[in-house]
Amino acid sequence: MTASTKTGRPGLGADREWRLLIGGEWVPPGAGAYPVVDPATTEVVGHAPEATVGQALDAAGAARAALDGWRALSPADRGAHLARLARVLEARAPDWTALVQAETGSTINITEQIQVGPAFVDRFRYYSHPIDLDEAVPPLPQDKTALGPAGLANAMVHRRPVGVVACITPYNMPLVNVAGKMAPALAAGNTVVIKPAPQDPLGILLLGEAVAEAGFPDGVVNIVTGSGPEAPAALVASADVDMISFTGSSAVGTRIYRDGAATMKRLLMELGGKGALIMTEDADVNAACAAIATVWGFHSGQICTAPTRVICHRDLYDRTVETLQAFAGFMKMGDPRERDTIVGPVITEAHRDRVEAFVAAGTAAGATAACGGSRPDRPGYYVAPTLLVDVTPDMEAARQEAFGPVVAVLAHSGDDEAVALANDSPYGLFSYVFSGDAKRAYEIAGRLQSGNVALNTVQPHMQAPFGGWKMSGIGRDRGKWGIEAYTEIQAVNWLAS
Ligand code: NAD
Repeated sequence: MTASTKTGRPGLGADREWRLLIGGEWVPPGAGAYPVVDPATTEVVGHAPEATVGQALDAAGAARAALDGWRALSPADRGAHLARLARVLEARAPDWTALVQAETGSTINITEQIQVGPAFVDRFRYYSHPIDLDEAVPPLPQDKTALGPAGLANAMVHRRPVGVVACITPYNMPLVNVAGKMAPALAAGNTVVIKPAPQDPLGILLLGEAVAEAGFPDGVVNIVTGSGPEAPAALVASADVDMISFTGSSAVGTRIYRDGAATMKRLLMELGGKGALIMTEDADVNAACAAIATVWGFHSGQICTAPTRVICHRDLYDRTVETLQAFAGFMKMGDPRERDTIVGPVITEAHRDRVEAFVAAGTAAGATAACGGSRPDRPGYYVAPTLLVDVTPDMEAARQEAFGPVVAVLAHSGDDEAVALANDSPYGLFSYVFSGDAKRAYEIAGRLQSGNVALNTVQPHMQAPFGGWKMSGIGRDRGKWGIEAYTEIQAVNWLAS
């Protein structure tokens, strides 16, 4: 079975028969298929293959079988494969726009720029240039001991691939997220099994076609999809898998940590967040509010790094709330296919209900919905931009992740209180400081328990290390840290006499 028959183009309609990619073969799923639903229209986009546990393990076995050949290639040869893949994607991924938009519900602008656009393709191109992290240890004069003669001890520290990496990913930015794992993992010499989220997996199967077209050896990239936890849980338990690179909720991350212990899994964990955005009394309110409004407009707040917890100086509080209300009023919510739509749906009916329950619990606890708070009267799974004010630090609205278009605003009276409020969180993924004084903003950043801090912007640096403190995760990727994450250290030493 080749990539261009059963999963081949054209024809991305709902009747298409999708298959799993295992060892270079497109394999029919052993447990049938399940519907993938467009959250904007509630129509079925397609039926995703339901892999059995046995097929997940077959995929791990195929990745294991391909490992020796792949890691024996030079970094430049592996990089050439990634560069070819980037070129194939640049040519083909724009054709995926309609499908990926339908399964993710993201607006046309976000779909084109991020889901299938440069943000996705650049991750492969970046890692197509080999990054050499090997280094020498300074020579060490060595006296004669019971273990051997005197001499000059030398050592080289090498980075070796971890082995088979299972990449388990969440919904929201499926292709970008998988690319962020797969590209550095492959560049470092690992082979991969990809298990995308149940909600939006079809674009990932198209990525599998592109991998085949780019000429990767069979088994280097394998893809299994499914609606339940059984197949990914089997990858976590399998001795054929050396590392789990997981992005998703802290609850599932905790479970993977525990279930992976028996086989001492290497882990990269990118988990939940409740991004604090501190505004000092001299902050530019409009700039800060434009940044905060991205919680509503950037994939309806289904972004782990979103600044959902605003910690605003009391002097700016009323003006900030009024400005945010005005922003919410301007943002068009509606059909993500229309160019001027800013707020699209959330991923599923169940998730819409969860976000609504989060808001209802907040207002029941004493917060006020300064905007949003009721279900929009339209088909699809929409949550209106919601602003919760009168929030206190003990409320769930201030502590837990909604993963939807919901912003909570708290007040502070000075930098010390702002820092204490920001750190009073189970999470520590991405924080923000908006201040008129760059030196002060930088000093506040140094006091925050957060893997990343952005100053007067919500734009990340895509080659800076990314990851979380506390319940937001373990490890870092992006840039050279991506190679570190997917390698083991090996020290090789010798004695010069
Ligand atoms: P989720 O944790 O429910 O699912 C993520 C993946 O884990 C899915 O592929 C799922 O099938 C799989 N899974 C479920 N049970 C499993 C098990 N027992 N063993 C192994 N795998 C299992 O997350 P979600 O609802 O898809 O995504 C939303 C969450 O992801 C939010 O908490 C969000 O903050 C987080 N997220 C984090 C980042 C980041 O980089 N830190 C980025 C995006 C999303």
